[in-house]
Amino acid sequence: MKTVGLIGGMSWESTVTYYQVINDTVNKRLGGFHSAKIILCSVDFAEIQECQAIGDWDKSADILADAAQQLEKAGADFILICTNTMHKVAPQIQQRINVPIMHIADSTADELVKNNIKKVALLGTKYTMTQDFYKERLVARGISVIIPDAESVEFINHVIYDELCLGIISDESRKQFVHIIETLKACGAEGVILGCTEIGLLIHQANVSLPVFDTTRIHALLAAAKLIS
Ligand code: GLU
Repeated sequence: MKTVGLIGGMSWESTVTYYQVINDTVNKRLGGFHSAKIILCSVDFAEIQECQAIGDWDKSADILADAAQQLEKAGADFILICTNTMHKVAPQIQQRINVPIMHIADSTADELVKNNIKKVALLGTKYTMTQDFYKERLVARGISVIIPDAESVEFINHVIYDELCLGIISDESRKQFVHIIETLKACGAEGVILGCTEIGLLIHQANVSLPVFDTTRIHALLAAAKLIS
């Protein structure tokens, strides 16, 4: 079995899901007492969030590259950055290590292509929804991406940082998310990307009529498959 290195803590609420899904998948495939070989480097999310707020992406890249180097030194064969947003600095992190980063947007694009999705709605932080670093990797695979209106972008961003990253799961917010997703369906979306690793804690396939692509699960399942390939 290979060893995966996780850069976690962004937020730790979603890192828990990664740990569960990877172990569960490896155990289901190998049986018995088998579990996944995982090295976790969990950062202090307050430091990362402060960098985001003041736009100091270089400093956040330094913090995450340091974590990636620790994981490489400890024996990780490949690395997952357990957040969509911080893939903004994935190229800078990759430059400083010799093992590959499994990019969450590429993993998601693979899944969309497999399901023949040509137009998709993207939910995530305001950085992920409004900037190009994430969307461009989907567009490069022939997928067109739509995002909610400006007011909904702000609302989703607020729920991510002020509720989900703090472990708060609200029925009222779920209702609003469902409404936003159904509106995007009416705009022609054939699926919806839960492009923030905490949204899967709030929205499940049973809540909406559009096919759901939960980036946390997609990323973690692909990592588990690579571990035992
Ligand atoms: N986990 C979130 C994401 O997937 C947001 C937290 C962060 O800013 O990294 O984008």
